Amino acid sequence: MKRHKDYTIPYTGLKIGRHEFEFKLGNSFFEQFEYSEIGDCDIFIDVTLEKQATMLVLDFDIEGVIVTLCDRCQEPIEVDIEATEQLIVKFGDYTGSIEDEILVHGPGEHELNLAPYFYEYAHLAMPPKRVHDSMDQCNQDVIAYLSGTDDDGDDDDVDPRWEKLKDLK
Ligand SMILES: [Zn+2]
Repeated sequence: MKRHKDYTIPYTGLKIGRHEFEFKLGNSFFEQFEYSEIGDCDIFIDVTLEKQATMLVLDFDIEGVIVTLCDRCQEPIEVDIEATEQLIVKFGDYTGSIEDEILVHGPGEHELNLAPYFYEYAHLAMPPKRVHDSMDQCNQDVIAYLSGTDDDGDDDDVDPRWEKLKDLK
């Protein structure tokens, strides 16, 4: 993975105390990841970093809009996301992690690359169900097809993508 300089906080030079950082994620951020479910989006992440003598405590405030596909009709829709996360980096003798949210940084570490965390947090913030607010806003052709009212009995020219959707119902 690239070094993601834009999403890296060099913390060695920071004074003890609170520091604020602002990040913005868009399409270009997520397209660097092979398996991203997120494409077009506007995501703002406020990071409050509290540097203590023995650790860093990072609080993330995540807010934004993601364009994804409606689960019901597969047309693009915008979903709002909002989440808070916390990450702790303890200063230790080695580099590793204790738990998902607790890292250990050895003496040779000087910076924290937040890109993989931003990627994970944005995906976690996506609602499990992503649909248009009402059925009326969905693509009616797809809805009609799925409900079977548009079924003329000729299965030969069914769009394979729609066939797949049927299984998801
Ligand atoms: Zn829809």
